[in-house]
Amino acid sequence: MYSELITFIRRWYLTDDFIPLHEPRFKKTDREYVLDAIDSTFVSSVGEYVNRFERELAAYLGARRAVVTVNGTAALGVALGLAGVKAGDEVITQPLTFVATANAIAHNNATPVFVDVNLDTLGLCPDALEAFLDRNGEQRGKQTFNKTTGRPISAIVPMHTFGHPCRMDRLVALADQWNIPIVEDAAESLGSSFLSHHCGTFGQLGVLSFNGNKTITCGGGGAIVTNDDKLADRAKHLTTTAKLDHPWEYVHDEIGYNYRMPNLNAALACAQLGQLDGILKDKRKLATAYSDFFKGVSWCDYFSEPRGCTSNYWLNAVITKDKDQRDALLKATNDSGIMTRPIWQLMPDLKMYQGCQRGRLKNARWLQERIVNLPSSARIDV
Ligand SMILES: *Cc1c(COP(=O)(O)O)cnc(C)c1O
Repeated sequence: MYSELITFIRRWYLTDDFIPLHEPRFKKTDREYVLDAIDSTFVSSVGEYVNRFERELAAYLGARRAVVTVNGTAALGVALGLAGVKAGDEVITQPLTFVATANAIAHNNATPVFVDVNLDTLGLCPDALEAFLDRNGEQRGKQTFNKTTGRPISAIVPMHTFGHPCRMDRLVALADQWNIPIVEDAAESLGSSFLSHHCGTFGQLGVLSFNGNKTITCGGGGAIVTNDDKLADRAKHLTTTAKLDHPWEYVHDEIGYNYRMPNLNAALACAQLGQLDGILKDKRKLATAYSDFFKGVSWCDYFSEPRGCTSNYWLNAVITKDKDQRDALLKATNDSGIMTRPIWQLMPDLKMYQGCQRGRLKNARWLQERIVNLPSSARIDV
């Protein structure tokens, strides 16, 4: 039953070897940029590649500013703090996400609250968010509190699952209505847009990742994206040890982080950004081919980009009939050297987040039992 899919994937990647879920693609330019950074001796905390990557990334996204960091988790942690999340606050996010989303909230000593995703986007559901806020939210002055717990709800973090954009128009409208800032976890969605705006530019702040498994990579890296110059300046200051400009003195005016992206990584990031359009094109070709293949398959549905969106198709996904079938598909593919994976465990099912408040998570549970990610790397010939 699964052998046709296995044959299809092997033909696409033209190999009898192990096929990973998502691997990076490197070209001659990548090597040249990294060597240039080494030859310059500027491999660490200062260097022109950092500035250049911040400039080029912001331009690509159509954002005023990007501040690059050591990874996406660190970027999200700092972005939440800048949005006003304080110890003891609550932050609304989705249960179906990579653990870093919830961890970054916890790193701020805040508590995640889980609101369901919708079936069309796999991301935070506007209807569920509206219902949750109507039931639990209470506005006092400018701030929204959770009536049930008495704590401030200080941010909303939608995550664009596998690169498929959330319904940002409705999420932004709700966030505005309740006066709660949005911090987008756009770690998976470089190259994705909703109504022609890039993911990560809808919220007060957005966050990207350049980890090894993402659409482009610089080994490890992240970015904080914003249209607010003041917030960007604060992000830069905080992620670079909060040091004041001085020709020789070490003056730090608050407790900062050493979260900056090293110049060596930024060199690779610049080279990779130059290849992004080619990678996206190749990934879209694969998505179209998968979509066509699964039109002839009755045992599962291929997940296509939501309407009004352009997805980067970071990871391709199918939705199987039920959990047994999901497990059978996972076994058949992995046994034959093709890496496939289920979606993450729901955050409130992990022991650290079991006690957290949650809405009704009907869609998230349904999807969790059925989603399988298929090999999604761009080919080497992009
Ligand atoms: C990858 C990822 C992150 C974290 O990025 P790192 O660079 O690995 O720290 C955060 N959120 C989501 C949803 C991710 O997929």
